[in-house]
Amino acid sequence: MVHLAPSRALARLGSPPPPRVPPTHLPLPLLPPPSLASLLTDAISSSSSLPHLRHLHALIAVFSSLSPPDPFLAAALLRFALVTQPPMETFRVFSGLRRAHGSELPFLPFAFSPLAKAAAASCSLHATRVAHAASILIGGFDKHRFVENSLIGAYVACDDVGAARKVFDEMAAKDVISWTSIVVAYSKNGDMGSAEEVFARFPMKDMVAWTAMVTGYAQNAMPAKALEAFEQMTVAGMPIDEVSLTGAISACAQLGAVSRAAWVQEIAERNGLGRNVVVGSGLVDMYAKCGLINEACRVFEGMHEKNVYTYSSMIVGLAAHGRANDAIALFKDMVTKADVEPNHVTFIGVLTACSHAGMVKEGRYYFAQMKDKYGILPSADHYTCMVDLLGRAGLVDEALDLVKSMTVEPHGGVWGALLGACRIHGNAKVAKVAAEHLFKLEPEGIGNYVLLSNVLASAGERDEVSKVRKLMRNRRLKKDPAISWFEGRDGLVHQFFAGDNTHPRTRDMQKALFELVEKLRPAGYVPILSSIVYDVSEQEKQRLLMGHSEKLALSFGLLTLGSSCTIRIVKNLRICDDCHLFIQLVSRIEPVEIIVRDNMRFHHFKDGECSCGGFW
Ligand SMILES: [Zn+2]
Ligand SMILES: [Zn+2]
Repeated sequence: MVHLAPSRALARLGSPPPPRVPPTHLPLPLLPPPSLASLLTDAISSSSSLPHLRHLHALIAVFSSLSPPDPFLAAALLRFALVTQPPMETFRVFSGLRRAHGSELPFLPFAFSPLAKAAAASCSLHATRVAHAASILIGGFDKHRFVENSLIGAYVACDDVGAARKVFDEMAAKDVISWTSIVVAYSKNGDMGSAEEVFARFPMKDMVAWTAMVTGYAQNAMPAKALEAFEQMTVAGMPIDEVSLTGAISACAQLGAVSRAAWVQEIAERNGLGRNVVVGSGLVDMYAKCGLINEACRVFEGMHEKNVYTYSSMIVGLAAHGRANDAIALFKDMVTKADVEPNHVTFIGVLTACSHAGMVKEGRYYFAQMKDKYGILPSADHYTCMVDLLGRAGLVDEALDLVKSMTVEPHGGVWGALLGACRIHGNAKVAKVAAEHLFKLEPEGIGNYVLLSNVLASAGERDEVSKVRKLMRNRRLKKDPAISWFEGRDGLVHQFFAGDNTHPRTRDMQKALFELVEKLRPAGYVPILSSIVYDVSEQEKQRLLMGHSEKLALSFGLLTLGSSCTIRIVKNLRICDDCHLFIQLVSRIEPVEIIVRDNMRFHHFKDGECSCGGFW
């Protein structure tokens, strides 16, 4: 969603100085230089289509006959080749010019920029090194700022950030383009530590530089940092545009932070971007991911211009919130009334909706339509939706057949959906097949071992359960740290790790949980001990269950928000059976609505029911 900033920042690396018109006093016998120069300049500025290569060769022939050779024309020819021909042609022209006049041709510094840009356009590290070497050996121009900037751009385009950094470090005079390129390069490579280090020393930070940091953090799953940078950017009085906003919006969506979401929307509106189609689509997605699906609908309704991204965000959002019929109805509006062509993301939303609502017939219909009517080949993600759909409906064997018939390689998501279906329907046979693939694809994914051992335990295959446990021990698997986030009334986001007792109100939270359990027992709460995979005593399992991060977040929410409120929790992993039951029962005995977003979907708990219907 927020892949705009780096490309825009790189686009700024764009134009080298325009080719200079050769001075008229140069003695040129064959063809008066002004006309040749203006011919070239005109050709370059007016050329929107690719001229025939022979025009270029004709110009080179004319150039070759000039004596002495004109360095301005040489640079103009290289620039001409760069903008009108495939990238490698620039290198051929360079060799041609050298052949024509040998060492008599004095190259100008800006002749080397087209070479570096051609290398960047072809993403060839070899070509970049050739351009770099030529600028040093032939011209001695590697110390000219625009040549250095072009070389940085070329190394970055070839993913050699280390070489780009070397050029950057050796620059005598860096400009805003040099600094920004390096910051963008690091953030694109996921090295935010180095990006921060360079950014801190960046003397003339402008909007593009700040934007690079905001989107860098957002794209590298550091949403809190992204929002912090965005706030600093607004405080520094930087103008806000669509790209920086999109980064902030994506960060809010990742955090699920409701109060920050409203703040970002306010900034969008204040900057006249509230109705911008890119920003608007992002806001729809953000509100849906923050659990505010009605707010997402409100933004969607208020938009004048809606494109495929806007519709897709809304359809995916409705589907994730279990509003399947609304999602399908919107899809029909989109393709009939609005006449917007759906894309692969739209169909993820449509198929997810069908899956959540158990609409098997419709799901099959749309899966076929996607390919036959819209020419979209199903990806592994689409197959995941279909396996989920069939699996939930109890058609586990058919789901397995579908996986076997796949035209693309099934990924962990596909097998995971199948294993999940086996858990719901207690199919140990297919579970073993799915798990076998998952153990190869995701050897570290402890959740798969847990699911398989649960299915085997329910089927009474005790020996098999021990085998899985042994496998886990041998592979020394540890669970990813489970984290839940809860946003307080003050907009502060509180973070809870499983078993965390570092929070200042830990004692109160533990007491509140203990009291809750006592209240829940009569309502039918019996701890689901199989949610703990470790071989420990039952008492220890009960203790571990009470330390689950979403329970800690819930008790903190109840303590601080009081009753008659909505508690929103975001969790980084899938919610476990025990926490699901626990929260479901809390929503029965307390007048609260609890919305949990785990890594799979939203669970809206109210009056003892969950929107997922117990399937997740
Ligand atoms: Zn749990
Ligand atoms: Zn649920």
